[in-house]
Amino acid sequence: MASESQSKHMAYHDPLTGLPNRAMFAQRMAQALAELRRGGGAVGVLALDLDRFKVINDTYGHSAGDELIRDVALRLRGLARASDTVARLGGDEFIVLVAGASPAGLATFAERIVAALGEPVELPFGRVFCGASVGITLIGDPATEGEEALRQAGLAMYRAKDAGRGRFEFYEPEMDLALKARRLLEHDLR
Ligand code: GH3
Ligand code: MG
Repeated sequence: MASESQSKHMAYHDPLTGLPNRAMFAQRMAQALAELRRGGGAVGVLALDLDRFKVINDTYGHSAGDELIRDVALRLRGLARASDTVARLGGDEFIVLVAGASPAGLATFAERIVAALGEPVELPFGRVFCGASVGITLIGDPATEGEEALRQAGLAMYRAKDAGRGRFEFYEPEMDLALKARRLLEHDLR
């Protein structure tokens, strides 16, 4: 039984940080959407990616990078409410699922995350700076798929990277048009 519960834990958690993984995020997202169907409101999805994280790996080594990822996980957990789901999707990418979200509440939360991750951290290998960029989408339609929410938040996160990193952006439908235009241009150039 212990081994069964251990393998269940491993299937739904990230081994490096102990945070929920993509599979658990998908489950929590489905639950949040089901609650949305019953009670209305909105679900917020924040996609976070560390800025220039490769430099940390290249400068101090991969295990130092791991240390930083664990520290980021702790800081994110400290900023989130107990009802939020903080997950690690892999690499330097994290997701926060916020049930009962409002645009103003999400903006304040994202601002606090960006500020907290912009602070230097003291790790065993030295003092490092590694900020983060955040993309946010607010889902009010319970028919939205979890994958679509991730896509929207990811697109907004790339916009935050493009706009200079260390900031957050909300998803807007025009971002899809901009992405399509870019793909077409790339295709034509090729
Ligand atoms: P950007 O600001 O554009 O995000 O730059 P970046 O350097 O952070 O680039 P990106 O997010 O694309 O790359 C993330 C890197 O994280 C790529 C990979 O080398 C590294 N990485 C992925 N998983 C792990 C891990 O588990 N541990 C460590 N230490 N590094 C990882
Ligand atoms: Mg990154």
